[in-house]
Amino acid sequence: MIYYKTNEEVELIRKSNLLVSATLAELALHIKPGITTKYLDTLAEAFIRDHGAIPAFKGFRDFPFSTCMSVNAAVVHGFATDDELKEGDVVSIDTGTVLNGFVGDSAYTFAIGEISEEIQKLLRVTKESLYKGIEKAVVGNRVGDIGWAIQEYTEKQNGYGVVRELTGHGVGKSLHEEPEVPNYGRRGQGLKLQDGLVIAIEPMINLGKKEVFCADDDWTILTQDGMPSAHYEHSICVRKQKADILSTFVDIEANEKKNSNLCSTYY
Ligand code: MG
Ligand code: MG
Repeated sequence: MIYYKTNEEVELIRKSNLLVSATLAELALHIKPGITTKYLDTLAEAFIRDHGAIPAFKGFRDFPFSTCMSVNAAVVHGFATDDELKEGDVVSIDTGTVLNGFVGDSAYTFAIGEISEEIQKLLRVTKESLYKGIEKAVVGNRVGDIGWAIQEYTEKQNGYGVVRELTGHGVGKSLHEEPEVPNYGRRGQGLKLQDGLVIAIEPMINLGKKEVFCADDDWTILTQDGMPSAHYEHSICVRKQKADILSTFVDIEANEKKNSNLCSTYY
């Protein structure tokens, strides 16, 4: 069942998403070689709780952390660990909050220190593909139009692998609501988009092939060929002519530029 949101509910979901964005922006100041993803996860949880919210991921289907920390060949759903991040790593940080009963969900991929042109391009194209998908999330279009736009740009035009097993999703009172929003698809196919539909759009794009597998921890999704993957996510509300983006990368990108340990030249 699809649950369309009232304007009041959309504003509550926006507040929750802006807290997610603020959390990711806070983490952007702390990422550096030698720091562990467990430390970053602890920071994120404290930040979320200090702002009166609950980490949406912790305990969700028994997921043990407040963030998903997916490093290099990890696509999504990675665990925070005691391993130190190092120069050249790319880490997708995905987090969620529950604030006033509504969920925020957004993700951003950070690159530490000098990274190859090849990986910089992967990050840039993946981020751009998110906005190409969002452009299609307007009243009258269909879910397939969103996935088509992402797939066309990443797979067809740039030769990357689009993960098939995981998708974007509706978001609201629950972290995962209907409909599924795949990052691949056919134009004019799937659910017709109506005003007030709130969805998380989240391209998961592999530098190499599209195939992935799940690690022994039953959560971490890894590329089969071991090549890196990128992941960016916004929660948006479908509107006429233009989607309303409820999360924001503005402060994340500002802090990414401020933090000399992060690569911010890729976009
Ligand atoms: Mg997410
Ligand atoms: Mg999501």
